[in-house]
Amino acid sequence: RCGSTQNMSANVKVVVRVRPLNNKELEHNSQIVVDIVDDKMLVFDPKEEIRPFFYHGMQQQNKTFLKRANKELKFVFDNVCGPNATNKDVFETSTKDIITSLMEGYNCSVFVYGATGAGKTFTMIGNIENPGITYLTMEHLFHTIGSFGNEREFDIGVSYIEVYNENVYDLLKPSNTPLQLREDSKYGVMIAGLTLCNINTARELLNLLENGNKNRTQHPTDSNAESSRSHAVFQVYVKMRGKASSQLRIVKLSMIDLAGSERASATGCIGDRFKEGANINKSLLSLGNCINKLADGSSYIPYRDSKLTRLLKDSLGGNCKTVMIANISPSNTSYEDTYNTLKYAARASKI
Ligand code: ADP
Ligand code: MG
Repeated sequence: RCGSTQNMSANVKVVVRVRPLNNKELEHNSQIVVDIVDDKMLVFDPKEEIRPFFYHGMQQQNKTFLKRANKELKFVFDNVCGPNATNKDVFETSTKDIITSLMEGYNCSVFVYGATGAGKTFTMIGNIENPGITYLTMEHLFHTIGSFGNEREFDIGVSYIEVYNENVYDLLKPSNTPLQLREDSKYGVMIAGLTLCNINTARELLNLLENGNKNRTQHPTDSNAESSRSHAVFQVYVKMRGKASSQLRIVKLSMIDLAGSERASATGCIGDRFKEGANINKSLLSLGNCINKLADGSSYIPYRDSKLTRLLKDSLGGNCKTVMIANISPSNTSYEDTYNTLKYAARASKI
């Protein structure tokens, strides 16, 4: 079947996270359309009724469901995280390993993909009790740096930007003036005037992320009051120098909370909202196109088509490690979004 994936390469890791049903879905007696078979496999829209213990505490009472197609599509990913997985669990199976790659000199990127409300920001940022993978990954980075002792010198700088309407804004120094991208032959893609913060512990990061998130563009739409139509890009620049050799290496880790992947048409957009939708589709569409080309082994990858892909040109494909975390709801009320997200994730795992 078209849904299954094999031969997952070492350069791209794809993890699917299925969140618990939310209150609204519970109130509407949603039917669960995602059957988690094991830690690598799920079946979308299964013929058999879902064994409810995977979603314990969530009783289903009524059986007058929306029509389903019973596609019974089997998907295999590097990891499938169920509704009981914590952010720590997700971190362990998704981004923990990339710190090793980073120390070996690879640029790395992490994407959270999915429809609005599917759990992207929860996965990326989380909350005090359940810090997200950005914090956990940075904590692991500092731990790893510590383990080098005096062998290597490190310098860590972080930036936090937003791509909104094909413009780049600094979330650490809010301004209405967008930042400009430049291409530098030595350093690759550069952002003129970008704020780089030096941090030495993961704790310092929490404040920074919290303040940065307050500056994110939030526009309620009809379909979801907490909808976010921007891409938030957190980047970590690691400068390292071995004590014995004088060679300086700079590697970059990018963690991207993508805008909602639902189609603009689903939000009843008009006017400004429509323009936003169109532009979000441009960056998301370009990312999808680049992923498709990379998966096909094309020699030409259209990075220049959007701001997001230009920004990530040196962190995607080639000599880079990528982690894609696809977030989905288990509910039949998100049937189309979930199906589209799973297809996107399956495509990414072919890179
Ligand atoms: P997105 O960023 O994809 O639009 P959010 O991360 O904001 O979605 O999640 C929507 C809501 O669902 C939030 O209230 C969030 O706290 C909750 N949520 C998402 N994922 C989980 C999870 N794994 N466990 C518990 N609550 C979750
Ligand atoms: Mg969000």
